[in-house]
Amino acid sequence: MNLYSSISTLASISFFVLITSCQAQTPATMTTPSHPTIKTDEEWLAQLGPERYRILREKGTEYPRSGEYDQHFEAGQYLCAGCGTPLFSSDSKFDAHCGWPSFDQATNEEVVLESRDLSHGMIRTEILCRQCGGHLGHVFDDGPTATGLRYCVNSLSLTFEKDSTQSAEAK
Ligand SMILES: [Zn+2]
Repeated sequence: MNLYSSISTLASISFFVLITSCQAQTPATMTTPSHPTIKTDEEWLAQLGPERYRILREKGTEYPRSGEYDQHFEAGQYLCAGCGTPLFSSDSKFDAHCGWPSFDQATNEEVVLESRDLSHGMIRTEILCRQCGGHLGHVFDDGPTATGLRYCVNSLSLTFEKDSTQSAEAK
């Protein structure tokens, strides 16, 4: 290999690295978690109660089909049970028959953080509320809709706010 071809190979490798590093930066969700709402474990337990605390702060999972929002299809917003941030809209909810509330997207890219989860011998992507760091569930790339995503969320991680504009549908 002569000097010229070495240089051109090097140049194309650098170009490739440049391209891939740009792509690697695109998902805003892969940044280091920093949660504006910070409370002590005692404060969270007092606010949430033991069941919600186990899910949101200890990354627990509710039993399938046990959650109040699994088969809940009213129009409205699903908020973080820890801090009240609107996380999912009823428009993005679908029945995945998996036993947990499922959505094909979050209200926007900013509200949900993703984190690699290697627990229980599986490789999964955990989803957390960006505002308070509360554990929501996991996101999978086997969704049946256009987004291809399935946000599988514990009902106990959520509260529901009915859409008041759509409740006047009798007009
Ligand atoms: Zn939250």
